[in-house]
Amino acid sequence: MSGLEPLQDHRICVCVRKRPLNQQETIMKDLDIITIPSHNVVMVHESKQKVDLTRYLENQTFCFDYAFDDTASNELVYQFTAQPLVESMFHKGMATCFAYGQTGSGKTHTMGGAFSGGDQDCSEGIYALAAQDVFLMLKNPAYEKLDLKVYGTFFEIYGGKVYDLLSWKKQLKVLEDGNQQMHVVGLREQEVCCVEDILNLVELGNSCRTSGQTSVNAHSSRSHAVFQIILKSQGELHGKFSLVDLAGNERGADNAKLNRKRQLEGAEINKSLLALKECIRALGQNKPHTPFRASKLTQVLRDSFISQNSTTCMIATISPGLASCENTLNTLRYANRVKAL
Ligand code: ADP
Ligand code: MG
Repeated sequence: MSGLEPLQDHRICVCVRKRPLNQQETIMKDLDIITIPSHNVVMVHESKQKVDLTRYLENQTFCFDYAFDDTASNELVYQFTAQPLVESMFHKGMATCFAYGQTGSGKTHTMGGAFSGGDQDCSEGIYALAAQDVFLMLKNPAYEKLDLKVYGTFFEIYGGKVYDLLSWKKQLKVLEDGNQQMHVVGLREQEVCCVEDILNLVELGNSCRTSGQTSVNAHSSRSHAVFQIILKSQGELHGKFSLVDLAGNERGADNAKLNRKRQLEGAEINKSLLALKECIRALGQNKPHTPFRASKLTQVLRDSFISQNSTTCMIATISPGLASCENTLNTLRYANRVKAL
C-alpha cells in the first residue's frame, strides 16, 4: 500500500479484508483460494469439476476501493478506512463504519481488536485506534475552542430489538418524533475524558454482550453491535461516529432443518442487511428517498443515511478457505452492490 493515500471527499468507501487461514483450517488441509493481486483487487480461485471429471480453476475478480491481504495489520486497515471518518466527525459529520461478513471472518478482530472474544492477538482494533485519534484531534487548537465533549454509547440489535450494552442489556424502545428523528429512548450516553475511558466502555459492553453465553460466538454472531463516539458542543450534537460490528451474513443450514427461533433470527438478519445495502446505495446516489424504516438497524442509524454530511465505510471481511467459498462469494457480491453506483 506504499505511496497510497486514503481517499478524501469520498462518501462511501468499500473495502475487503482477507484473514489468514486459521489453525483448524490448516489442520483440515483447507486451501487458500483468495489472492489480492493489487491494492484494490480480490480474486477467488474456485476449483471446479468438468463432466469428464477433470478439474479446472474458475477465477472471479472483484474490484473495491481497497483490498487488504492477510498480512495487513489493524493499523493499516484503520488508516485507509475509519481514520478519515474520525476527521469528518469533527467537521460536523455523521460517520459510519461497518464490518460485514461471515461469522469467523474477522469482523470483531477488526473492530474490537484485543477485546474480541477469545482473541489472543493483542493488536488494537478500530475502536481503540479511533478513540486515540479523537482525543488527539481534541488537542488541536481549531477544535479546542469549540469546547467539545465526548460521549460513548454501546448497544446491540437482536431480533429487531435494541439492548443497551452499558446498562446490563436493558431493552430500549426506538421512537420517531414529529420531525422524523429516531430516538433510542433511555440509551446510556456516557461521557468520556480519555482513551482509557472509551476502552473501559468497550470492555464493559463486550462483557455484557457475551455474558451468560456458553459459546461467545453463538449469540454475538447473530446480533449487530453498535458502538458510537459522539461529540457535543454546548450540549448540541456536533458529530457522531457509529462503528458497527454486523451479525454474521452466512446462510445457515437448510432452512427447513432449523428450529423456529433460528429461522426468525436468520430472516431478521437478512432483512436488516438488505435494508442496510439499500440505504447505503441511496446515500451514494444522493437519492431523496432512503428506505431506512425497513429494519431496526437502519432506523437507529437514520441520521447516518439522511445527513448531507455523511460518510460511510464498509469493511467486508472474508475467510480464505475453500470451505468458506460460498459465503465469501456472497460477501463479495454484497459489497460490490453496496459500492456500485
Ligand atoms: P467474526 O467477528 O467475524 O465472527 P472474529 O473477529 O471473531 O470473527 O475472528 C475469528 C478468529 O479469527 C479470531 O480468533 C481472530 O483472532 C482470528 N482473526 C480474524 N481476523 C484475523 C486477522 N486479520 N489476522 C489474524 N487473525 C484473525
Ligand atoms: Mg464477532
